[in-house]
Amino acid sequence: MTVKKNQEYEVIIEAFGNSGEGISHINGYTLFVSGALPGERVKVAVTKAKKNYGYARLVSIEEPSPDRMEPGCPVAKRCGGCELQHMSYEAQLRFKVQRVVDCLTRLGGVSESAVAGPEVIGCVDEPWHYRNKAQFPVGVDRESRIAVGFYAARTHAIIPCGDCLIQSPVINRIKNVIEKCIDDADSVKHIYIRHAAATGQTMVCLVVPKKTAVLNRIKEAVLSEIKEVTSLCVNIHPDDTNVVLGDVFESLYGPLYIEDIIGDLRFRIAPESFYQVNPYITEKLYQKALEYAALTGEEIVWDLYCGIGTIGLFLSKKAKKVIGVEVVPQAVKNAKENADINSIENAEFYCGTAEDIISRAVGDKEVGRRGGGEATDAAFNLAELPDVVVVDPPRKGCDEKLIEAIGSAAPERIVYVSCDPATLSRDIARFRPYGYELEKACVVDQFWQTKHVETVALLVKRRKH
Ligand code: SAH
Repeated sequence: MTVKKNQEYEVIIEAFGNSGEGISHINGYTLFVSGALPGERVKVAVTKAKKNYGYARLVSIEEPSPDRMEPGCPVAKRCGGCELQHMSYEAQLRFKVQRVVDCLTRLGGVSESAVAGPEVIGCVDEPWHYRNKAQFPVGVDRESRIAVGFYAARTHAIIPCGDCLIQSPVINRIKNVIEKCIDDADSVKHIYIRHAAATGQTMVCLVVPKKTAVLNRIKEAVLSEIKEVTSLCVNIHPDDTNVVLGDVFESLYGPLYIEDIIGDLRFRIAPESFYQVNPYITEKLYQKALEYAALTGEEIVWDLYCGIGTIGLFLSKKAKKVIGVEVVPQAVKNAKENADINSIENAEFYCGTAEDIISRAVGDKEVGRRGGGEATDAAFNLAELPDVVVVDPPRKGCDEKLIEAIGSAAPERIVYVSCDPATLSRDIARFRPYGYELEKACVVDQFWQTKHVETVALLVKRRKH
């Protein structure tokens, strides 16, 4: 039987796919069914048929899974934000653990026994209204009315999101106030909002092609109606690109940063800087990194992809010295300010790509070891090799050049904080020739209701006998 486009079939869903979709088979032909859960008997209509696999739309659920939930959000199916709202939170966690285990064993070459029953940190309360950051695109709907919301999956159609169920309530309130001020969809491109959960400080940034009168209207409305807003700024971005932010930020009110608190540390955050999005999980994530680092106070620690220095500063109290590397200049500036704000004196931060800075530093050190000259060119003087290296790269994972450099710096432990288990696993395989093996891993669910998975992995250098 050949599976054809637009045909309907009744299938049993066998497993989760990478994005939480259901997978079924028809005589060996694989069908991906978005919104279907393992164990369910469903009717589907094929939307795309390739030679060996295809995609299908859910038509009806004949036998639902006990994990099935009615999505709380009316636009859950159309909006590209929450892929997992149709399943219970327990099922979401099971999907994420399974995904990490599958990646580590299949792509990472890690043995089943090393990853069996990994640690899990997830939501302990209600898995809603957690995000501290939103970037709402502004446009028009089919009836030419102003639409503010999120992009539909894989398109640039804007789905108005009302009160988004995964955003902090204050972010929704601000969006709703601003939405009412906009009468020309071309005057504002994006509404970017960031809220510091511990201090309450909130920044609103309006991304505009040029400054127009709408900014005054928004300023008046936001400052009179939302007391949490401590910073209001404009980002001028005339170009039509896929990148949300332009280079120039200008304050309309308050400082060009907000401050937040994690544990007993205070952090300053510029709008260009990365900051973890789930304040209910961040401290637990960093505690896990600290636990895996197993510091005694004597260690040199590298915090690579350090952002505003959060992990490095978190670890600094138990380390001899921390060296952080980050590519975004404003984030490096924040990291240095954050060391000062918290009176931390054993942390240094450098700006550049981790692969360039670390491979240059390690290369110079090797020159030094061979007695071949001074380490003049290094961005930092690699007087001491690291005992522990923390990496927290974006989804694409670590550059191969960086892995090679870390391999030759030969730390005892590598703590890998990852937001994509596939690239984490690829990189674990790439660290193996340097003697590193996965010791343990913890699945940290920061992205409730979505397919995204965070993992902290501990790699330990095996001793040669
Ligand atoms: N550890 C930080 C930031 C993690 S996000 C935290 O927990 O907040 C990843 C960071 O890596 C971002 O700040 C991004 O700007 C930075 N980055 C991306 N590519 C990089 C590279 N090649 N070298 C160094 N930093 C990079």
